[in-house]
Amino acid sequence: MAAKHVYSFGDGSADGSNRDKLLLGGKGAGLAEMSRLGVPVPPGFTISTEVCSWYQQHGGAYPPTLHEEVEEHLRVLERRMGRRFGDAADPLLVSVRSGAAISMPGMMDTILNLGLNRDGIAGLERGGADPRWARDCYRRLLQMYGDVVLEVEKSRFEEELTRARHDQGVASDAELSAAALDRVIAAYEAILAQAGKPFPEDAREQLWGAIGAVFGSWDNRRAREYRRLHGISESLGTAVNVQAMVFGNRGADCATGVGFTRNPGTGEKRFYGEYLVNAQGEDVVAGIRTPQPIEGGDGRPGMAGDFPAAHRQLHELAPRLERHFRDMQDLEFTVEHGTLYLLQTRGGKRTGPAAVRIAVDMAEEGVLTPEEAVQRVEPTQLEQLLAPGFDGAEKARAIDAGRLLARGLPAGPGAASGKLALTADRAAEMAAAGPVLLVREETSPEDIVGMHASRGILTARGGMTSHAAVVARGLGKPCIVGADALHVDSRAGTLRVGDRVFHEGDELSIDGSTGEVIAGGLAPHPSPVVRQLIHGEPIEDGGMAHAFQRLLGWCDGVRRMKVRANADTPEDARVARAFGAEGIGLCRTEHMFFGEDRIGWVRQMILAEDATGRRAALDRLLPMQQGDFEGIFAALGGLSVTIRLLDPPLHEFLPHETKAVARVAEQMGIAAERVEEKVRSLSEVNPMLGHRGCRLGLTSPEIYSMQVEAIARAACARQRSGDEVQPEIMLPLVGSEEELATLRQATQETLDRVFAEEGVRVPILIGTMIEVPRACVVSERIAAHADFFSFGTNDLTQMTWGFSRDDVGRFLPQYLEQGLLPFDPFARIDEQGVGPLVAMACQGGRRAKPALKLGVCGEHGGDPASIRFFYEHGLDYVSCSPFRVPIARLAAAQAILGATEKPSSRR
Ligand code: PEP
Ligand code: MG
Repeated sequence: MAAKHVYSFGDGSADGSNRDKLLLGGKGAGLAEMSRLGVPVPPGFTISTEVCSWYQQHGGAYPPTLHEEVEEHLRVLERRMGRRFGDAADPLLVSVRSGAAISMPGMMDTILNLGLNRDGIAGLERGGADPRWARDCYRRLLQMYGDVVLEVEKSRFEEELTRARHDQGVASDAELSAAALDRVIAAYEAILAQAGKPFPEDAREQLWGAIGAVFGSWDNRRAREYRRLHGISESLGTAVNVQAMVFGNRGADCATGVGFTRNPGTGEKRFYGEYLVNAQGEDVVAGIRTPQPIEGGDGRPGMAGDFPAAHRQLHELAPRLERHFRDMQDLEFTVEHGTLYLLQTRGGKRTGPAAVRIAVDMAEEGVLTPEEAVQRVEPTQLEQLLAPGFDGAEKARAIDAGRLLARGLPAGPGAASGKLALTADRAAEMAAAGPVLLVREETSPEDIVGMHASRGILTARGGMTSHAAVVARGLGKPCIVGADALHVDSRAGTLRVGDRVFHEGDELSIDGSTGEVIAGGLAPHPSPVVRQLIHGEPIEDGGMAHAFQRLLGWCDGVRRMKVRANADTPEDARVARAFGAEGIGLCRTEHMFFGEDRIGWVRQMILAEDATGRRAALDRLLPMQQGDFEGIFAALGGLSVTIRLLDPPLHEFLPHETKAVARVAEQMGIAAERVEEKVRSLSEVNPMLGHRGCRLGLTSPEIYSMQVEAIARAACARQRSGDEVQPEIMLPLVGSEEELATLRQATQETLDRVFAEEGVRVPILIGTMIEVPRACVVSERIAAHADFFSFGTNDLTQMTWGFSRDDVGRFLPQYLEQGLLPFDPFARIDEQGVGPLVAMACQGGRRAKPALKLGVCGEHGGDPASIRFFYEHGLDYVSCSPFRVPIARLAAAQAILGATEKPSSRR
C-alpha cells in the first residue's frame, strides 16, 4: 500500500490526533483532536509534514500519489459539506493554512476563500447570497493569493482598498458597498495582470498554488533565520491544512474572534478575548477595526448579548479544552449565522507573570503535577516578573512618535527613566532631586557611588560582562551597554545621538530587557513580587507573590545543584537571601574599597612610598573590612560565604581627574605631580592581562594579609557572639600550582596567627577561582592545594577567545548579525570552545580530590542554558547576581527534569 500523506478531520472523527504533532503540525493535530472530542470544527484534511520534506528534497515536486489522495479527500469534504469544489453555482470554499510542529512566524500563514472566481460570485448570488459578502470574499482571496502565492507587493492592494474607503467616505472595509468592491476587484485584477501574474480562475490551480506556497515558505529566508535563532530543526517541515470555510463576514449574525481560556497578561482564571462582528479572521489581527471584548464591559454587552448561544458554548468548551490539553488554550473561532465553529486551539502565549500564575494554579487544581508546572515556565519569564517594566502601549506610542534613539545590549533587565547625568559625581548629586540615569562612555569601579544613586545605567561601549553590566545586574538595576550610536562628552555635558543633542538634566528612558534607549520620560512600574518580597510592602495582588514562592518551592524540591549569589554588601546579601540564595558564591572585596570613608585610605595604601606608610593605611582599612564581613556573615545566618581577595589592578582605585588628584595630594601632604606620576606608573596597556588577581597578592602580600585578617577576625567575632559562620577564602586568577601553594601557605599563616590571638578557631576553606585557561590544563595539580574551585567564566571566556570584556561591544553586534557567533559567549557559556576547558578542570580537580567542591561565579551562573551545562558537568553550585537567583533555581530544576515542552508561541 502506498504511504499515507493526507489525514482527514471533521464530523466527530479524525485520522490523526494530538499525538501526531510531528506529522500533522500543531494546527493539524489540534484540529484532529478537537474533531475527536466532538468540538464543532469545520471539516477538512491535513497534508503531512513528510510531504514538505519530500517537496524540499525533490525541487518542489510531490510524492506521486499525493494528487490522487488530495482528490479523494476533497471528495469526502464535498460530501460532508454538500457542495463541490470549483462548482460555478454553489462552490465549496476552503482555507489553506500552514502549521509546523512548532509555531513559526515567517512562514506563509493563511489563504481564505480558495475556490472562488467571478463565475462563483455570480453563482452564489443566484443562490441568494448577499452580493456584498460574495465580493468581499473574492476581494480577500485576490489580495491574499496575490501577496503570498504570486508575490505581488502587498502595499499595492492596500493602497486600492484605502482609496475605495476614501472614495466612499467610510472608515472600515465592512462598510464598502458591493459596487465599491467591484471596483476594488477590477483594480486588484489589473495589478496582477500588470505584474504578469494573472489570478488563476481554476479552483484546483488555486489550491495547488496555495499548497506549494506553504511548502515553499518553509525554506524562505525569514523562516530559516527564525529556526536558526530558536534552534528548530530544519527537517521538521510544515504541514498544510485544507479546511472548509465558515464565514464570519456573512452579516450581522456572524463574527470572528480570538479567545484565551485564561488571561494571557495576568494569568487570572477568567476567559479573555475579542471578537469582531461581520468580519473574517485576519481582520482581528490587522487592527483596522477595533475588536470588542468577548466578556463585554464599559456598557457593552459583549458576546453574551450579541451571540448568546455561541457565547455559552464557548464557555463550555474552554475549560474542557484546557483540561484536555492540560494548558491554557488560545482559540480561534468563527460564528456563522449564530453557530459557533472552532478553527484552532493551541497553548497560548503568555507574559511572565501569567506563566507563573497559570502553572501554579493548574498544579493546585490538580491538572498538572508540580514538576510539570516547573517545566511550564521559561526562566526568562521569571526575569520579566521581577523587573520593573514600562506599559507596553505607552512605550509603543513613544517609539511610533520617533523617540527611539538607539539600541544596545540588554545587560540588566527592567525599565528605568530619569534625568541624564554624564558623570558618577553628577549622578550622585542629582539623585537627591529625583530619578537619574547614569550615561557614560563606559563605567569603571570609581563610578560605583553614582551607579548606586542612579535608577539605570547606559553606556556607549562594553559588552555583557563589562563593568557596567556586571555591577548593574548585581544591583538589580536596568542597564544597556554598547549602545554605540551614543556619543558621550562628559566635559561638555552633552550626549549626542545622530544630529540630536541632549544635555545633563534632559529626560531619557531605557528598557534594559530589550536594549531600547528612548528620548523623554516613561513611567516604570515596579514588580509586585519585588515590592512584597524585598521591600516588604503590602501589595494588592498578593496572589502573584504566592504563586512565585510556590513555584520556586517546587523547584527547590527537584534540583540538586545549589544556588548562591554574588553579593558584596550586607544589603545585597539580604536581597539574595530573600530570593532564596543558599550562600554567597562571590563577594568581590574590591567593591568595598570604594566607600566614601575608605577610598582615601586605599589610595594612600597604593601611593605609600614605603612599607611603613602602606602598613599604616592598611591598619585603617582593616577594621572597616572586618565590619563589612561581619555584616555579611550576619546577613547570611551561617550559610557559606566565599570571599575573593582583591582582584583588579591597583590603578583602578586611583584618581584620574585633576580635582580628585589634587584632593588626594592634599590628604597625603605630597605634590599633585607625585600622585600623577604614580598613576602613570601603575597604568597598564592591558590591565585585564596585567598585574591583578593573585599576582597582586604575591607581589604585595600585605594587602591579602590584611584582608585575610579582617575575614578571620570578623568570623571569630560572629562565632563568639553565638552565630554560625562558614567563610571561604578565594584566590583569583591563579594559573599555576606554585601560585596557589604560596598564597595558601601565607593565608593559613595569617589565619593561624589571628586564631591564636583571638583564642577561637573557625573552619575556613581556602580555594581558588579557575579563570585562566592554564588553570584548567593543570587543574589536577592546582586541586592539591584547593578546598574548592569556582569557575570565573567571565575571565575564562575573555582569555580563551582573546576578546576583551570591556570592548567586545564594539564588534559583537556585527558578529551576531553576520552569524559568526550564534550568541554572546559572555552571556551563555560557549560549550564548544570554553566548555571543554571547564570539563577538563572538573575532571582534573576531582581526580586529585574526588570530593572537591565545584562552583561557578561568572555571569554564566545565572544563565539557564549554561546552568544546564554546569549541572551536566557535576558542579555543586552556581552563583549569580541576587536578582537572578530565582531564575537559577528554576533553571537548575529544569536541568534535571530534562527537555521541556514549552507552551507554543503565538501567530
Ligand atoms: C569571572 O572572571 O568570571 C569572575 C567572576 O570574576 P570577575 O568578573 O570579577 O573578573
Ligand atoms: Mg575574574
